[in-house]
Amino acid sequence: MNYLNNKKNIIEDRPYLLLTPGPLTTTRTVKESMLVDLSTWDDDYNNIVQQVRSRIVQLVTRSKLYTSVLMQGSGTFAVESTVGSVVPPDGKLLIISNGAYGRRIGLIADRLKIDFYEMRCSETTCPDSQRLNQILETDPLVTHVAMVHCETTTGILNPIRELSKIVKKHNRTLILDAMSSFGGIPLVIDEIGIDYLISSANKCIQGVPGFAFVICHQKKFEKTRGYARSLSLDLYDQWETMETKGGKWRYTSPTHTLLAFHQALEELENEGGIGTRNKRYSACQRILVDGMSSIGFYPLLDKHLHSPIITAFRYPKEKWFNFSIFYQKLKERRFVIYPGKVSEEDTFRIGTIGDLSIDDIRHLVRVIEEVVIGMKSEG
Ligand SMILES: *Cc1c(COP(=O)(O)O)cnc(C)c1O
Repeated sequence: MNYLNNKKNIIEDRPYLLLTPGPLTTTRTVKESMLVDLSTWDDDYNNIVQQVRSRIVQLVTRSKLYTSVLMQGSGTFAVESTVGSVVPPDGKLLIISNGAYGRRIGLIADRLKIDFYEMRCSETTCPDSQRLNQILETDPLVTHVAMVHCETTTGILNPIRELSKIVKKHNRTLILDAMSSFGGIPLVIDEIGIDYLISSANKCIQGVPGFAFVICHQKKFEKTRGYARSLSLDLYDQWETMETKGGKWRYTSPTHTLLAFHQALEELENEGGIGTRNKRYSACQRILVDGMSSIGFYPLLDKHLHSPIITAFRYPKEKWFNFSIFYQKLKERRFVIYPGKVSEEDTFRIGTIGDLSIDDIRHLVRVIEEVVIGMKSEG
């Protein structure tokens, strides 16, 4: 790895700062926690699995009515596992989508041949709760509703409280893709009425990629045995094995990723918990947006719609701007940003999650300013 050798002395820990929605910049101590090989048959390991399982539940509820399952793979695997395992064979899924990740739930349902209806909304506004109410009122076949909390496509924070109220009023089961918000935005799932909450190791908990997890309302979940449309992604089977065998996974477990995640949970607690982390992310996002606006980059979304997780910026209209050159120049200066995913407009994205400080973001803004001056003078 060339970049490591070149810059070793200066930036040993963080040769790149990933301003991306995962994998993201992790601490040295999280990475170091992986320097041990543990056997999946060993109690040492399985005890850590059990601790992790209960700690993630405690992050979002004090209620004893919830349980958790860990699942190998990236976040999408857990979304597919949940959708494919908890919707009954004769069930119907209503998907609220206002971005790429919401639409992906539709792709999953389609591939699994689950009956579904997609309530597709504009990417730059919040889904309308009246419309949701109307659909649920007129379609008694819908058993489950799935939606994204922070839609990482734009960074929009969907009004989960308001939408959940409608879902609960109609007595349907709610699946929340909280992939990019869990750990970064406070959430009390029993208050809101979320039945299945999905997230992954490499987002706001600040671990490394390799597994994802689902926090489940246990009573509802227990009724889903035998529904799964896949063997390896059978959520119930995975849960039952973890429950009855003291933290064992079915099939090879991502042992190193789990250790990193356990360390990341410690570090979240040491930071002061989700509330404190949310304040750091929010401060970073504000400094980013203010700095970018003063350079001439404007956010896609109205301010009040924003999450502190990631911000989509419109491409400047002027001729000097070229995303791939801009990206390369930032990368040469250690900052890795993210391309856009909005279908309605050209954007790029900058994440403010991970092991980043306010100073890192201030530095980023200065670097962007320099890069822009350079690009403008080069024509
Ligand atoms: C990251 C993310 C996912 C999962 O993506 P993977 O690449 O499979 O980890 C799903 N939904 C949202 C909202 C996300 O931000």
